[in-house]
Amino acid sequence: MLGPALHSAPDCGKITCVPHFDETQVRAILLDIEGTTTPVDFVTKTLFPYASRKLETFLRENAAKEEIRTPLEELRTQRGVDEQNGLKPPSWRDDSEEARVGSATAYGQWLIARDSKSTPLKALQGRIWQQGYARGDLKGEVYPDVPAAFERWKRRGKTICIYSSGSVLAQQLLFGSIATGDLTPYITAFFDTRVGAKGEAESYRKIAAAVSLEPRQFLFLSDAAKEIEAARAAGMQALLCERHETDAALRGSAQVIRDFNGIFPR
Ligand SMILES: [Mg+2]
Repeated sequence: MLGPALHSAPDCGKITCVPHFDETQVRAILLDIEGTTTPVDFVTKTLFPYASRKLETFLRENAAKEEIRTPLEELRTQRGVDEQNGLKPPSWRDDSEEARVGSATAYGQWLIARDSKSTPLKALQGRIWQQGYARGDLKGEVYPDVPAAFERWKRRGKTICIYSSGSVLAQQLLFGSIATGDLTPYITAFFDTRVGAKGEAESYRKIAAAVSLEPRQFLFLSDAAKEIEAARAAGMQALLCERHETDAALRGSAQVIRDFNGIFPR
């Protein structure tokens, strides 16, 4: 449930309609990325295809490195679990490095196509994107209201944290390469699935503890209803962020925001 409304009633006649939340409690704002700070298209149409395209070359060039060997080994284990669960992943061969790289590529691409949240896959994608950002092939994207909101919230003394299924590295690269400037100085902490799944209340409790605040001192914004429920179950305040007018109209505006303009607007 939402906290008690201590500020004035939402004015839905104006451009921005802000649902009730207890502003006085909020010391930190926790943000989802995909569909919340950043268009979903950026991930599905830019980042995923880039990682999928570069995976084989990347593995071939880096398979011997320690920081790549661990996620590779974890991928192999995970593939075994997928097979046992009857998911029919691509086959895996270990008889030569060539075969191993080929197997990891096929399985990695299979996972990417399924929008997998696999932690080792995310680690590899993060490294590939790092190269892409460094080469200037990739640039992070946020909705136009996001940089101003970060600036406002920081000025109000709010702690800004990110929680996304993309790896922490991928998150830092994205926010570090926005066309209008580097947004990472505004962000206190980044969390990925290593803290737990986004649909689990326990993950949100751990995030609160990691920045030495109580869950009730957080406002969580996400486009996923399941994540909103989990954050609320942990004691956080949370609002659904629907970036498309049609979605918000369908759900009604009571617990939905369209952008960040009404969240600590001054
Ligand atoms: Mg999302």
